[in-house]
Amino acid sequence: MKPFELLSDDDLATCVHCGLCLDACPTFRVTGLETESPRGRIYLMTQWKRGTMALEEEQVRHIDLCLGCRTCEAVCPSGVPYGRIIEAGRAEVERLRRPAAKRTLSRVALRQLLAHPARLRAAGAVTRAAQALKLTSVVRSGRQLPPLRPQFRRPAGNVATAIGPRKYRVAFLVGCVMPILYPESHQAAVKLLQLAGCEVWFPPGERCCGALFAHNGDLESAERLRDANTSTYLAGTFDALVVDSAGCGAHLKDFYPELKGRVRDITEWLAEIGLPGPKNDVQLRVTYQDACHLAHAQRIKKQPRDLIRSLPGVEFVEMRHPDICCGAAGLYSTLEPTMSNRILQEKLTDLAATRADVVVTANPGCQMQLSAGLRASKSKMRVEHITELLASAY
Ligand code: SF4
Ligand code: SF4
Repeated sequence: MKPFELLSDDDLATCVHCGLCLDACPTFRVTGLETESPRGRIYLMTQWKRGTMALEEEQVRHIDLCLGCRTCEAVCPSGVPYGRIIEAGRAEVERLRRPAAKRTLSRVALRQLLAHPARLRAAGAVTRAAQALKLTSVVRSGRQLPPLRPQFRRPAGNVATAIGPRKYRVAFLVGCVMPILYPESHQAAVKLLQLAGCEVWFPPGERCCGALFAHNGDLESAERLRDANTSTYLAGTFDALVVDSAGCGAHLKDFYPELKGRVRDITEWLAEIGLPGPKNDVQLRVTYQDACHLAHAQRIKKQPRDLIRSLPGVEFVEMRHPDICCGAAGLYSTLEPTMSNRILQEKLTDLAATRADVVVTANPGCQMQLSAGLRASKSKMRVEHITELLASAY
């Protein structure tokens, strides 16, 4: 394969350099630098592709510092497919760069852990035990991690029956880290689906969807996982494949052509099929953080807000810039902690101004980042996955 063949000339040429995306870009907002903007990064990748600029470490840093949040894509009037461009750019950097580079290490770590559900479950169990025993070195190294609870378990026979008459049969993506980090979000999601008349099927043998691999430039592993998962899903029958992690949902919609049109974010699906009337009053002031991969990659902003507003007793308050990234972005907060933290600080200021009791989001990475930030700033505000807030009304 020729250098930079993965980057498409047509994709790069859609950028007309208007700069309308600049103010929406979190890294440009905190640095004010063209090189940390979507336009600057597209220019850089175009020069690489043309062979007029060398692939130097200094330039690669601008690609590393992109969150992949795709806010630029959502606001671009020219329809630049930025998500596709940055994934291809990162894959090229990964392919052509020194083997000892930092991202190569994270790639090996990802391959050895995320792609193996049993190893991941074991790592989760060890971390949980360390948290329970307050083993400080382990707890400190995973400072961002929430207190781990017993992991999410699939029901016997891999099926949860509908509550009341069955109207739909849905497949549910259990995924890799969510059953370990946020089992309560999954439990709430399944309960909501059952209440809405869905029989929920948990495809046996399903593995990580591959989103974190693709975002990290490891398209080869992402393709392998996609092929294995596609066969698993297509072995069953379902009306929709429901996902409660925005990053995974966006990846499935973009990267799994054989599932085209059948993947739904949980908020999208519940808004489509309807929930029964809520039973409990939820006396809370609530704000909502748009997960980038829900708002920008999947263009879903209205449904989660409508669902939250439908709960009796909820006082909904919008924060300033709810659709600007919180700095989590998959592995970004670990790989680029300085920039991630600068972006998080802006978010914490906006959150504090809402005086909300709870900030709700729809992605585990955002949950973890916001919780860590709120904890560090000694805020009393809680973070909940949207499924938990909705389920608390039943
Ligand atoms: S990415 Fe879109 S909005 Fe940004 S400079 Fe290019 S054409 Fe303009
Ligand atoms: S994906 Fe996000 S961080 Fe990267 S250039 Fe676009 S707006 Fe900026």
